[in-house]
Amino acid sequence: MTHERFMPFSDAARQRLADPALADRLHRATILSLTKRDHLAAELPQWEALRRRARRIKLHTLTHLDDYVRQFVETARRNGATVHWGGDAEAARRIVTRIARDAGVRRVTKAKTMLGEEIDINAALESAGIEPIETDFGELICQLAGVAPSHVTAPIIDWSLEQVAALLEKKGIVHPADRADHALGRSQSREAQAAELVAAARAALRERFRSADMGVSGANFAVAESGTLVLVENEANIRLSTSLPPIHVALVGIDKLIPRLADLGTFLTLLPISATGQRQSSYVSLIHRPLNRLEIVLVDNGRLGLLADEEQYDLLSCIRCGACQNACPVYRHVSGGAYGGVYAGPIGAVLQPHLGGERRYAELPFASSLCGACSDVCPVAIPLHERLLEWRRRLVESGVRPWSERAAFAAWAWLMGHPRLYRRWRPSPEWIRGLVQEAGPGEAWIRTRDLPVPADETFAQWWKRTRG
Ligand code: SF4
Repeated sequence: MTHERFMPFSDAARQRLADPALADRLHRATILSLTKRDHLAAELPQWEALRRRARRIKLHTLTHLDDYVRQFVETARRNGATVHWGGDAEAARRIVTRIARDAGVRRVTKAKTMLGEEIDINAALESAGIEPIETDFGELICQLAGVAPSHVTAPIIDWSLEQVAALLEKKGIVHPADRADHALGRSQSREAQAAELVAAARAALRERFRSADMGVSGANFAVAESGTLVLVENEANIRLSTSLPPIHVALVGIDKLIPRLADLGTFLTLLPISATGQRQSSYVSLIHRPLNRLEIVLVDNGRLGLLADEEQYDLLSCIRCGACQNACPVYRHVSGGAYGGVYAGPIGAVLQPHLGGERRYAELPFASSLCGACSDVCPVAIPLHERLLEWRRRLVESGVRPWSERAAFAAWAWLMGHPRLYRRWRPSPEWIRGLVQEAGPGEAWIRTRDLPVPADETFAQWWKRTRG
């Protein structure tokens, strides 16, 4: 459960920009992941073809979603699972807590699930008197700290080793005496120190994991033709939620459906390379005929509304790899917490206004340099920069943005529509700075930006000179 108060992006980002060490950690982690991704993608001559195929499969599924949902429900039931429909977050929470209460569950092990974050399942379980324990190390740290994950695949990407160690010590999971023996930075490599912290957490929590009566997971993919759930991970902890407890509840967004098992090869190649720069994830679980009781909660929570959006329904093809977050220069400075929602970075900037309300998240589509790096790395080829631009247009048209900004863009559009005037008019940087400073919100705009100095020659002058 998170205890963070919602803060507008501009304020949250300003706070984080004041901490250069944060950006430093984020740059190191994201660039490492991106570099590994780039090398592996370059090794595959069919990389671009795979991206195009993944997009085709996802768009086909989305445009036939009613058929595939029906097929999945039938096949999953035939396999022995019970399938529920969670129309919104509240309904999904109710289903999970009811299953737990009816079975007398007291403790739940949780695998990493972004959908679980989205519907805040931990809070619901806690208020029903049930203890949820995160089994993913990063998620566990977030749970202990009462904060939301910062990244879709690396929840504590912006934490330092020292911060993690201090938290585990404060919570009594690592003991000060142990830390004195293996003082951070003394003789071990940082990898060894990190492994030691994970081992300490595992030793402290293993018994609680074993005694859980129910497990909750998400799913990376749900295969319609076979009713199979596919879960991808590296820590080998997903089975603590899916196989060990007598009941497994899987939260599955309807956007996770793919038609056939044969489609998996495409996604299982693209996902690990894009997410963690690995040729293959360490563990891929295919849950087909469950040994224990399996309850699948298919969750809509705003997805059907987005499906009806002709311009942007392809956002539902996101496979939550986090590559766009790694590639985003804005995310790399402010981290996930600044975005105020479950999804951060470029995908968050376009998805959160759909799922969490456009007024609440109106600033996010503007939190981008529009460099297009996110679109270039997206394994399902979502043109994220175009979606960002569409959101900007929509927000300006709907009047959510300040009047001064709308007026400035209207004046600019008018000027661009009068080429003769435009060619003659060439404001000095001082003139622009003076105008922006006078324009109220404009002053705030330039507080965190440097106005570029115009070149000596305009593009039109250069064109005329070089091309006649
Ligand atoms: S939008 Fe693309 S790059 Fe970003 S998380 Fe989703 S699949 Fe990955």
